[in-house]
Amino acid sequence: MAGTFALVAHDRMKPALADWAAENVEALGKHTLFCTGTTGAVLKERCPSLDITRLASGPLGGDQQIGALIVEGRIDGVIFFIDPLSPMPHDVDIKALLRLTVVYDVPIALARKTADLLVAAGLFA
Ligand code: PGA
Repeated sequence: MAGTFALVAHDRMKPALADWAAENVEALGKHTLFCTGTTGAVLKERCPSLDITRLASGPLGGDQQIGALIVEGRIDGVIFFIDPLSPMPHDVDIKALLRLTVVYDVPIALARKTADLLVAAGLFA
């Protein structure tokens, strides 16, 4: 069944997310995708066939927009390749988004292997 997923990557992780999306383009193509602004631009360039709705850039509220979609029950899973080694100006927004995934029990992958596990589990089937 087609679902709705959010894809986000911090700057240093964008190439890794683009690689992951390209490898899974067929599965992702069945679904509605939301991305924060810059992530969406990078993924659209790498995978032009994907139907991506771009929200605001993360530091300008994009993570909070994804959080709002979660609250509305519109997100079936989040792939968020975080950079664990860089300070982020919008750290509180990221924390809030992660918290909402737990509150609403939304599957989330923060790095490549867990993202692969969600694919293997059939989340994007
Ligand atoms: P970006 O935002 O896709 O606009 O870079 C991601 C983030 O930093 O949360």
